[in-house]
Amino acid sequence: MAQRIDGKVVAQAVRDEVARGVAEFQAKQGRAPGLHVVLAGDDPASAVYVRNKEKAAEEVGMAGRVHRLPASVSEGELLALVSQLNRDANVDGILVQLPLPKGVRADAVLEAIDPTKDVDGFHPINVGALWTGQPGLVPCTPRGCMRLLEEAGVELAGARAVVIGRSNIVGKPMAALLLAKHATVTVAHSRSRDLPELCREAEVVVAAVGRAKMIRADWVRPGAVVIDVGMNRDENGKLCGDVDYTQVEPVARAITPVPGGVGPMTIAMLLDNTLRAAQGRSR
Ligand code: NAP
Repeated sequence: MAQRIDGKVVAQAVRDEVARGVAEFQAKQGRAPGLHVVLAGDDPASAVYVRNKEKAAEEVGMAGRVHRLPASVSEGELLALVSQLNRDANVDGILVQLPLPKGVRADAVLEAIDPTKDVDGFHPINVGALWTGQPGLVPCTPRGCMRLLEEAGVELAGARAVVIGRSNIVGKPMAALLLAKHATVTVAHSRSRDLPELCREAEVVVAAVGRAKMIRADWVRPGAVVIDVGMNRDENGKLCGDVDYTQVEPVARAITPVPGGVGPMTIAMLLDNTLRAAQGRSR
């Protein structure tokens, strides 16, 4: 049976590290790092994500708040809020929760965020920094996946890795991070031919598709390491990943479960990004 990579345990270790870093920052700077989250509209899933982020930030001793705006907010009003947060010296991290209400261009809002406060790592300056090997803020979910690979002792240099999914949030930054660790990376997507075959060649598989249990046992090379980013509902409404865990577990060397794998890492890495942003800005 594969090693189960426990995201809850690793995420708690990251949160503990961040809490220590926050206490040190507070002692030196006389204030706690500030994370500000912008929630526009009334998407129920976004409300839950934002509440979890708020709670996690409080738990590690961070300052900041959630800025709640109605679904009728205009792009101009959102840009004005971002600009105010950019100028506020006590704000270290700005996160604009997606999706944004209709009529507001997400790109315009994300590009307005000061790149040094862009704790989601979605600003083109940070995207460019990631691909060119410069320091910058890196998207939370792929950073979480890298930490899990590290904890599982996976040797990435020279390894064949397949990332399934090419979103700006997960697939593309994941590919950049694996490449930076010298893996040979293939990025697959909905137009990829012979996906099971591509997948079978990989020693590391990262699934970020959004299709319940798509990756089955015969897609996975024996001994491969499988990271499952997917968060889907199965036919019984139960939370499940992109990987059929029961089928793949006997084949893989190590695998992340859903829930309890990548999910908890995302918020932990958001906290870590906020601390890094605060440290970077106070230098
Ligand atoms: P997304 O923007 O919808 O991207 C999905 C990607 O999968 C696209 O690149 C798409 O290809 C590809 N794809 C779709 N169907 C496919 C198929 N049949 N075969 C191969 N590739 C296919 O989604 P995302 O935001 O990256 O998220 C992916 C999954 O991760 C979702 O389940 C999401 O809920 C989950 N997620 C989890 C966390 C977490 O914290 N655990 C964070 C973020 C996302 P095209 O580009 O060709 O359309």
